[in-house]
Amino acid sequence: MKITRQKHAKRVLKFYHINFDLHPPFKVLVDGNFVYAAVEHKIMVAELVSSLLGDPKVKLCTTRCVLAELEKLGSAFKPALSVISQYKIVKCGHESPVVASECLGYLAGESNPMGFLFATQDRSLMAELREIPGSPILYINFNLIAIDPPSDKSLKMARKMDRRKLRVPTNEARRLGIGGGEKKKKRKKTKGPNPLSVKKKKKSKGKSGGSDVERPAKRSKGLDGAAVATAAAGNSAGDEAEPVAAASAAAVDSEAAGEATGEKPKRKRKRRHKKKKKSVELGL
Ligand SMILES: [Zn+2]
Repeated sequence: MKITRQKHAKRVLKFYHINFDLHPPFKVLVDGNFVYAAVEHKIMVAELVSSLLGDPKVKLCTTRCVLAELEKLGSAFKPALSVISQYKIVKCGHESPVVASECLGYLAGESNPMGFLFATQDRSLMAELREIPGSPILYINFNLIAIDPPSDKSLKMARKMDRRKLRVPTNEARRLGIGGGEKKKKRKKTKGPNPLSVKKKKKSKGKSGGSDVERPAKRSKGLDGAAVATAAAGNSAGDEAEPVAAASAAAVDSEAAGEATGEKPKRKRKRRHKKKKKSVELGL
């Protein structure tokens, strides 16, 4: 029986953890009726609550309004008063004490912002708390402590939260590219223009479209460059300088060759490169 109760409690707490961010160490707000029932059933509240919730650091809390109510009820409630006075007192904001159920209901507010678990035997207070989403209820059943299953209000709120989670993160979805149909289209547009083809057109247009007047000028430059390169190679007379000079000469020649033929610059670059290497070597 204990195992099933604890499993049930784990499921309920997991629900509250996921949907309402309630997590250990839990704060259990206890009223006088709960402690009175615990004393009558000889229940060790702290031990049973911590074992039920699976939280050894659970904090049992109460309010001054609850203590004041127990004091008014007389000697029959003294044992309960002595137990509950050991719990941590939470500030409720009531300057003059109010009825315990009213005090706990006030702290629960509209959405249990303090994240309490409420331990009570007061059925009217239980009904009130079930109308407040995210407010778990503990109660004593015979000689055991049990946790109330999530109320309809809590379940409805959890569903709403799930829907919001699915709707809201459109920005995150865009970042992750989940709804990225638009992005794909944009990428296709950027790929479309093909800058490589544009460059080729410019080169071909510049060379083919160039007038006959420009060609002789470039040819003369190419020849001059080759002459300078061979002269530099001859002056250096080193083994390392030969490839550098040959490469520079070949580069200059390739321009002249490419411009002269127009269509097949690459093949003639290689041929003339080899020829000039040989000529440089023979010159040395
Ligand atoms: Zn109060």
